[in-house]
Amino acid sequence: MAAHPAPNSKRFLIFFDFDETIVDESSDDVVVQAAPGQKLPNWLKDTYQPGRYNEYMQRVLAYMAEQGVSEAAIRSVIEKIPASPGIIALFQYLRTRPQDFEIVLVSDANMVFIESWLRRVGAHQLFVKIFTNPASFDGKGQLRLGPFHSHGCPRCPENMCKQVIVRDYLARRAQERGRPYQRVFYMGDGANDFCPSLILGPRDTAFPRRDYPMHKLIVEQQRSQPESFRAAVFPWVSGEDVVARLRSLVEER
Ligand SMILES: [Mg+2]
Ligand SMILES: [Zn+2]
Repeated sequence: MAAHPAPNSKRFLIFFDFDETIVDESSDDVVVQAAPGQKLPNWLKDTYQPGRYNEYMQRVLAYMAEQGVSEAAIRSVIEKIPASPGIIALFQYLRTRPQDFEIVLVSDANMVFIESWLRRVGAHQLFVKIFTNPASFDGKGQLRLGPFHSHGCPRCPENMCKQVIVRDYLARRAQERGRPYQRVFYMGDGANDFCPSLILGPRDTAFPRRDYPMHKLIVEQQRSQPESFRAAVFPWVSGEDVVARLRSLVEER
């Protein structure tokens, strides 16, 4: 990827999820539109096991290659996924504040889908780092997918715990910068975005998509163990909601 080194002067760090946060659908669901009949056979769907979604998607992509689905067809359906409401406006806002925001993507989709989509909307350069499952087309045109890492978190799928990613990134960057960020933000929607929000501190903000699983899990956590959730919570319906919140935080010194 075209990563540029992160300057060490930025005050804020913002993490983005991809599926149903940046884009308004799940890319793993959308890719099926490139399959024959735009659907998967039941025998294949029946191979899904809880917590092993990454392996399931490996089989889905192998099936699509066997059916002759081309790289161009896959990229085409992915690139057509609509952005979530207000996301392009949020990106535009962040582009006007390069001195303030370091921007990182953390996703359980894969590098091919994410880079295809971001390049199509011209947002690829915004992200200093993309953490996602490795993927590439092999010599036969099959999209090969791998797990991101292994971890010991019981809450998360086997191939990815976003809390581990966020924690390691914050520790590494604090060391490189010689100081922590003033504030950390995390914008997401899914159950796997709840885990990283648990390590945010009282100056940080979780941006869960309103009424999506991340939001519901935070509300449940705040109800059952109020002390254990420290970040401010700001549910969003549109990226414009997030712009408004960031704007007010940026103005304070
Ligand atoms: Mg998501
Ligand atoms: Zn986890």
